[in-house]
Order: sequence, then structure tokens, then C-alpha cells
Amino acid sequence: MKNISILGSTGSIGVNTINIIRMFPEEFKVKVLTAKNNIKLLADQIIEFAPELAVVYEEKNADMLVKLLPAGLKTEIIFGKKGYKKAASYSGSDIVISSMVGAAGLVPTIAAIKAGKNVALANKETLVMAGEIITKPNFAKRIKIFPIDSEHSAIFQSLAGHKKEELTKIILTASGGPFRKLPRKKFNSITPDEALNHPTWSMGKKISIDSATLMNKGLEIIEAKWLFGINEDKIEVLIHPQSIIHSMVEFIDGSVIAQLGNPDMKTAISYALSYPKRLPIKQTRMDLAKIGSLSFETPNFDKFLCLRLAYEALKEGGLMPTVLNAANEIAVEAFLNKKTDFLSIPKIIEKTMLKYNNKSLNGNIEQILEADVFSREIASSFIGVI
Ligand code: MG
Repeated sequence: MKNISILGSTGSIGVNTINIIRMFPEEFKVKVLTAKNNIKLLADQIIEFAPELAVVYEEKNADMLVKLLPAGLKTEIIFGKKGYKKAASYSGSDIVISSMVGAAGLVPTIAAIKAGKNVALANKETLVMAGEIITKPNFAKRIKIFPIDSEHSAIFQSLAGHKKEELTKIILTASGGPFRKLPRKKFNSITPDEALNHPTWSMGKKISIDSATLMNKGLEIIEAKWLFGINEDKIEVLIHPQSIIHSMVEFIDGSVIAQLGNPDMKTAISYALSYPKRLPIKQTRMDLAKIGSLSFETPNFDKFLCLRLAYEALKEGGLMPTVLNAANEIAVEAFLNKKTDFLSIPKIIEKTMLKYNNKSLNGNIEQILEADVFSREIASSFIGVI
């Protein structure tokens, strides 16, 4: 029996994690749940799983939550940053699911690692911003990070039983998003609804927009570098519209190993939760005869500028991946709120990166958080202006 804390239990990954836990009550016990906005769903989850602790961000939401719960429930309800820290480092828990959206997931995930918890990581921003620090042997020596991101889970699975020195290349697959075939001259009229309509994966809003701009793949390159300790010149992006091959690795003898499956997060989540064991998940099985053919193409860096910006940020290193990520979050939010257009997303990011005076990391998370706040201010100043 594994005791589980879910940071971000009402988002897309959180809900899928809950679905897995529901399938295997003899394997997993929910100890901690946290959520930011969807208090009604959190209340339903608390009633179903009776965790020991539940945390929300705002005090008013904690009050609302208490009102939604039946009297006599023993779950402790707290709120705020301290609450998240307690949730992440909760002593009764064996593994922490880091599935909060965006940079907000960094501090709680680091709290979990520092508390010696194994982490099932869906929050790629943790590695984008602080990968260089948290993958240092002394920082995370007692714990394991299991990737939940489907591409990284595929790489993790493909590497099993092989020596890292024999790895020559990681091939990250990407669906190409909803605008793979749309001519760039039509990009200026893309609406949020069109961008949210992903062809193969069902995901949260932020990551769906990131998939449409290919920034998601850019963030995943950075994530892969730190997670697997491989230099960016050995990480290649391959467009694969069917999203059946979730990623591949190439070895020194020319052999390529891939992990395949239907585009469904349940496999990656359950593997991260139950590693090294596999669980008998009930879901639609991949039918290759029905799919017929798998196709591949190289990504178009001139059309999807975010991908190029991510490689540049990674090459520059230091605080630049944090700047890239913060500017992207501001630009995506502005796009979703119709305050800026689709083509402006990479422009806002590029201008923010150009304006930021990069520094190397000093090993302190505070430095990263300051860079995050400052680049958000710079990025915000470009909204509606460019
Ligand atoms: Mg992914």
C-alpha cells in the first residue's frame, strides 16, 4: 500500500490520478489533496477518499470548502503557501504527485524533494526552472523522480535495463498540435477555442495552448535534459501526428527503442505510481491495424518560433529557461483572455528574453523565484503593445 499526496488534484492529471487510485484501492491510499480553484470537485474528492489533509490557496476557498463538507469528517483543512508546504512534505505520505499547473508547482515540489519524498512529476516547470539545481546528486540523493509527462515516461521506460553511456539520442515525439498544416499567414486569426482543440490529447487549457505553439515540446526538451542528464544537442524533436509513439531512444549500436500506446495519460501516471510494477489498467487498447500507418516529419522552426526560443533558452542556461517559462505563462494567459493574439505569444517571449540580463544559477531557489516575478513584469509590459 502506497500513501499518496496529490498536489493539484482537480486538474487534468490530478483527476486521472484519482481515476487510477479508484481502480486500485488495495494499492493506494490518498493522504493529502490540494486544489486552487475547483473547490466543489475537491469537496467531492475529500468526501470519497477522506484524506488526512486538504489544502487550498485562498482563505475564502478554505471557508467555502468547510461548508461543502459533512460534519464529522476528520480531514484537516488549511490554506496558503504554508499549507502547500505542509501538503508537499506530509509525513504520512510515500509519494507526491506534482500536478499543479505552471511555475506555481516549483516551491511545493522542492519542498517534497527536500522532505525526502519520491515525486511523480507532471509539473515540467519544476525541471525547466530548477532542473540544474534539483538534479545535482547532493540535492535529491534520497529520492526518485518518476516522470508523468507521457514523452518522458516513454523515455524512462525505453531506457530500462540500459546503460546511460550507451544512449546516443533522445527522440521526443510531438503531435504538431492543431495548426501543423495551417499556413503561417493564417496564424494571426487563430482563436483560443481553435487553439484549445487538440487533435489527439485531452489536456488542461495552459498545456493545450503550449501544444498549439509547440512551446510544450520546448519545455519538454529542457525537462528531458535534466531528467535524463543528456545534452540538448542529443535531444531531437520529431513530429508524429498520430501520438502513438510517445518517444524513443537511440543507442550506440543504432538500435532505437520506443514506447507506444494510445494517447491516454493513465499509462504514464500508473507507471509513475506503481514503478517498477505495472498495473492492469482498464482502457481502450492500441489497435495498430485500425490505425493503419504512422507518419513522421521534421518540426518547422520558422512556423513554430516557441520551439526555437526554448532551444535558445536552454543553450543560454542559467535563469533564461525561467524567463522563457514565465513570459510564456503571461503570454498564454493573455491569449486565453483575448488580450493578445496567437502570433504575439513568441514575440512577447522573445522580447522578454532579450530584455532580461541573464545570470548563472547560484543554487538558491529564491534567485529563480525573483527571476520568475521580474520576467512576468517585463512580459506583461508587452501585452497589447506588440
Ligand atoms: Mg508531454
